Amino acid sequence: MACNCVRDNESRIADHYTEQLGAPATAEAKNVALLFGGKVREAAFLPYAVKADKPGFRGAKGKKIGMFFSFCPFCGVSLKEEEKAA
Ligand SMILES: [Zn+2]
Repeated sequence: MACNCVRDNESRIADHYTEQLGAPATAEAKNVALLFGGKVREAAFLPYAVKADKPGFRGAKGKKIGMFFSFCPFCGVSLKEEEKAA
């Protein structure tokens, strides 16, 4: 990611729950993937469930696909600028 929002939020959430629960807590962002090709980088994505009457797409959960964000959903930094700068 061009910014550190995802990791910063993990620390903030962990601190919040550590205080609220009165016990050490950790937080881990789940919808973050490593992208390979050129420079290895992390990218956040939004999962979608695609459902259709075809193998692999049936059932209540359907087939899970991910769409990567073009901009950080927290601070708005363009993730494409990061590619240009690399
Ligand atoms: Zn950000």
